[in-house]
Amino acid sequence: MTLKLPVYMDHAATTPCDPRVVEAMLPYFTEKYGNSGSRNHRFGWEAEAGVDEAREHAAKLIGASEKEIIFTSGSTESNNIAIKGAAYMYEKAPAGSRGRGHIVTCEIEHKAVLDPVKRLVKEGFEATFLEPPRDGIVTAEMVKNALRPDTILVTIMWANNEIGTINEVREIGKLCKERGIIFHTDATQWAGKMPVNVDADNIDLLSWSGHKIYGPKGVGALYVRRHRPRVRLQALQDGGGQERGFRSGTLNIPGIVGFGKACQIALAEMESDAIRLGRLRKKLETEISSQLDTCAVNGHAEKRLPHIANISFGFVEGEGLMMAVKNIACSSGSACTSASLEPSYVLKGIGVGDDLAHSSLRLSLGKWTTEEQVDYAIKEIVQAVKKLRMMSPLYDMHKEGIDLSKVEWAHH
Ligand SMILES: *Cc1c(COP(=O)(O)O)cnc(C)c1O
Repeated sequence: MTLKLPVYMDHAATTPCDPRVVEAMLPYFTEKYGNSGSRNHRFGWEAEAGVDEAREHAAKLIGASEKEIIFTSGSTESNNIAIKGAAYMYEKAPAGSRGRGHIVTCEIEHKAVLDPVKRLVKEGFEATFLEPPRDGIVTAEMVKNALRPDTILVTIMWANNEIGTINEVREIGKLCKERGIIFHTDATQWAGKMPVNVDADNIDLLSWSGHKIYGPKGVGALYVRRHRPRVRLQALQDGGGQERGFRSGTLNIPGIVGFGKACQIALAEMESDAIRLGRLRKKLETEISSQLDTCAVNGHAEKRLPHIANISFGFVEGEGLMMAVKNIACSSGSACTSASLEPSYVLKGIGVGDDLAHSSLRLSLGKWTTEEQVDYAIKEIVQAVKKLRMMSPLYDMHKEGIDLSKVEWAHH
């Protein structure tokens, strides 16, 4: 069988929608098109029943109750509602200060966490942006050392979207619980792929998204704890008071039904998917590292998601590498910021140098990734890197044993 190109290896960016999800959504566009807020007729009741069922699936996936699930447009919105909503609700000024309260997060969070926190800082809150160690793992010890008497919120992602590393979420949650501090986690890369139990994992607020778990784009959820403690949030959007007042606006019913279906399938299949993808990712990493010298897997070797590999290649140039592997749809360690290519702030944050960050690839596998595709990616990447290095005088010098850090560069 011939392989269809390009091969999709960017599942951390988004996933294809599962056909079973699409099928579940379809009737809600054309037949069951009511507004779940309409209480007086069958169309409204049908829509409401669809939403109720989706809410059950979403709650079950994370060990919550249905009343604790707020449907949103995705993780960006869930994070905003959680972080800003909690900050405004729990703000407190330490004695003799004009501050509004302190927040703990990490430098390598997704922008959908960093930017809401930065907005709050502009508005008078204070924040600690933890600097992760080289392995990328945020530990409870690191969070503990950052806590202050006026800390009101800790927001630490469950697993990193670029390097796949897994943080000490349960332990961080325990710490926050003991001190009465609200704990939010952006679980976009974790929920639906790995097990969650919001009680055992000590979580107060949790964000996740449909399109990262084979559901539709533009729909997600926020878990808001209702007991021990009952978490309150100041709503950011005013209107019809839907979703217990936390998120006004007519519900995206087909999207929510699809999200629910995606959660139901995820719960049933996550274990076997994780085992299969973990084996394929390991193969990708070990084959590439054994066939090439001077390459490094970024992030902790074991404490990582099964499906995300992030590898840096020495002595190749980033743009050249991306061009050379164009049959593999993946992400690079460069981010386009306005006109220039900047090295990824996540790789920079864990201490990867600018050049190595630029020449990194994030390969993220998914439910329908085949062994054949993985073998193809290994072959393509190894070939591309070898070819690029043949043209690199620096690589020649390196092979001859010249210590490049001691070379005196000519100045023009
Ligand atoms: C994709 C992603 C987001 C953004 O989710 P949307 O649903 O696209 O808004 C936030 N956080 C992480 C970790 C992500 O991977």
